[in-house]
Amino acid sequence: MDYTEGKGWHDPRIVPYQPITLDPSSVVFHYGQTVFEGLKAYVTKEGKVQLFRPEKNMERLNQSNDRMVIPKIDEQFALKALKQLVSIDKDWIPTAEGTSLYIRPFIIATQPFLGVAPSSQYKFMIIMSPVGAYYKEGLNPVKILVENEYVRTVKGGTGTAKTGGNYAASLKAQEISSQKGYSQVLWLDGIEHKYVEEVGSMNIFFKIDGKVVTPELSGSILPGITRDSIIQLLKYWNIPVEERKISIEEIYEAYDKGLLEEAFGTGTAAVISPVGELLWKDRKIVLNNGETGPLSKKLYDTLTGIQYGTVEDPFGWIVTVE
Ligand code: PMP
Repeated sequence: MDYTEGKGWHDPRIVPYQPITLDPSSVVFHYGQTVFEGLKAYVTKEGKVQLFRPEKNMERLNQSNDRMVIPKIDEQFALKALKQLVSIDKDWIPTAEGTSLYIRPFIIATQPFLGVAPSSQYKFMIIMSPVGAYYKEGLNPVKILVENEYVRTVKGGTGTAKTGGNYAASLKAQEISSQKGYSQVLWLDGIEHKYVEEVGSMNIFFKIDGKVVTPELSGSILPGITRDSIIQLLKYWNIPVEERKISIEEIYEAYDKGLLEEAFGTGTAAVISPVGELLWKDRKIVLNNGETGPLSKKLYDTLTGIQYGTVEDPFGWIVTVE
């Protein structure tokens, strides 16, 4: 679908996957005016195709649009288009355990113009790809490096927007962490380097002394849809959960007192990713003997169960594609 100033969004169409042609001076290439989303379609044992809270992705896309001065999309229309696209060839969606169809909606600024100003033309596209199971042999705890030098984003900057620049800013630290043998970076706040924010492409939770805590949405943390679902699930189970500021010192102090029971990341790709090890300023801590904790496992089983239709969905999260 295209956008032209004065005309609005127009010409929605479904075409075979193919390269597109853009003018080399398109705004997106130079100033990064772009936003994106990520969600999945799952096939149940009965062959039904299900989406998980897709309306939240469209809502978040529009929040990113607002920050990036990209014209809003009609969320209902985008959802209808998405369902139509998924339903075109359902046989193409993988059905083996843990597999899914990854869906990537995104918008780019296409006006050929070298001045620094919002574009007057855009393209909204949705591409999809079958993806394999994230965990092939059960949940696998990740090793995380706490980042002390680089900053992913800040409140007042591109903050919570799901925009390319926030990911470009994270690449250097990701590279350093993988050279050191860590698979993810834990970002601290960009002002004091004190408060925990989130992991590469996941939000983060800690279980401390029976209570679950996750950083509050500070203006620089992506409001994850999995994060929101986990908070709702914990409340549903009457497990105490708090959204508040958490300093990295607090995590290490809880560990020293033997109160840090579990930590896990949440996101569309892995759903739940248990944390096995944290490294902060040369101090390494191993959580739960590097094994998956019981709460991480229960949350993973429940959420994936809802997504694949083996567990009842009391929240109305599932949207079936006819
Ligand atoms: N934080 C970041 C930076 C992410 O890229 C993602 C993945 N979209 C998440 C958190 C998790 O969000 P969600 O649960 O909506 O996938």
